[in-house]
Amino acid sequence: MTCETSRFHCVRCGECCRHIHPIKGWKDLQANGVCKFLIDNQCSIYENRPNLCRYDAVYELFKAKMSLQEYDEMVMHYCQQLQDLKKAKDNQ
Ligand code: SF4
Repeated sequence: MTCETSRFHCVRCGECCRHIHPIKGWKDLQANGVCKFLIDNQCSIYENRPNLCRYDAVYELFKAKMSLQEYDEMVMHYCQQLQDLKKAKDNQ
């Protein structure tokens, strides 16, 4: 799930796949914010997943506005937030 020069490494927690509701155009994939293709905490259509789920493809949308390093930092920031949210929920 990473491009060659990216510093981001997906830990396959599935948290981004459980929080897709704020993204426009992703309506077909969601059920209560959880992607319907997330099964047993894995993407069941991984090889054919949409571009919005592909790190490199999404960077194409941002690269006119930011460097790959900035994109990495943004993704790592949001990834960490989702993992922190999960930890907080697990500790309730
Ligand atoms: S299609 Fe796959 S990678 Fe994309 S949100 Fe759904 S489960 Fe996650």
